[in-house]
Amino acid sequence: MKVLIADQINQKGIEELEEVAEVVARTDITPEELVDDIKDFDAIVVRSRTKVTREVIEAAPSLKIIARAGVGVDNVDVEAATERGIMVVNAPESTSITVAEHTMGLVLSMSRKIAIADNSVKEGKWEKSRFMGMELNSKTLGIVGMGRIGSQVVIRAKAFGMDIMVYDPYITPEAAAELGVEVVDLETLLVNADVITIHVPLTPETKYLISKPQFKIMKENAIIVNCARGGIIKEDDLYDALTQNEIGGAALDVFETEPPKESPLLQLDNVVLTPHIAASTSEAQRDAAIIVAKEIKKVFQG
Ligand code: NAD
Repeated sequence: MKVLIADQINQKGIEELEEVAEVVARTDITPEELVDDIKDFDAIVVRSRTKVTREVIEAAPSLKIIARAGVGVDNVDVEAATERGIMVVNAPESTSITVAEHTMGLVLSMSRKIAIADNSVKEGKWEKSRFMGMELNSKTLGIVGMGRIGSQVVIRAKAFGMDIMVYDPYITPEAAAELGVEVVDLETLLVNADVITIHVPLTPETKYLISKPQFKIMKENAIIVNCARGGIIKEDDLYDALTQNEIGGAALDVFETEPPKESPLLQLDNVVLTPHIAASTSEAQRDAAIIVAKEIKKVFQG
């Protein structure tokens, strides 16, 4: 069996695969080379760089499994793979804690103005009164989507003494009771939350879930955080809400267009932006690589 590693993955995953297969790492492979060379492989492992298109899949007579060492399979043509009976696997649980930690980092960065204060000190200034913060203790955190990541955020926010409200029409009362959270409708959450964090997938239902009408009912000092996907928050409406002082601030790891080069949000003081790195820790990447390697082994071993 031959496995193509088309994007950089953690060494532990490669070692796991080497127990059952010949592993070829070509992490600079071009789309054209991939179409030419995929015919020799039984499995391919990708992260975000490599696109496993229909053209690639149709050029791969031996391919049995496509593995994405991360959450989501946006860069794999799952329909084309399914038509050919090729299994597509990913590692959705591998990054939950890492993303939850990044979310808390962004919440703290906003509530204590850490990023902007850092810029100011580096510019040689000492503007103590400009950076009055907001304590998180006893504030209400509104979590939109309480799946794997949202649940990890609940645990961390509770340690900060926050009260939690959740909007997620698909969770069971048992799951809510287990985490001790109050489940409410979206409007109640938006009206009451001091901090709002988004952890839903991008679907037709969640596209622009947070736009002008939602910003209008938020508290005027509310902070909104998005570590899920660009397009859940409508960025034009976010810009208006921020510049018209309808909300206090925003922290985004994901954008409607990545990178968000032309976005007017880049000019604002009350936003903190990170380049889609919420899942980027060595621990999460190691776990993702090991999980998909084990999936490939299972397929090879029948
Ligand atoms: P998950 O599937 O475990 O949880 C998603 C939750 O959203 C579920 O509980 C579901 O019931 C809920 N949901 C679905 N539609 C909803 C709606 N219309 N309204 C309210 N709730 C709704 O997913 P997860 O592992 O927690 O990941 C959440 C999202 O985070 C992923 O879909 C992914 O897009 C994003 N993510 C981003 C990064 C990053 O690097 N920034 C990394 C990992 C995941």
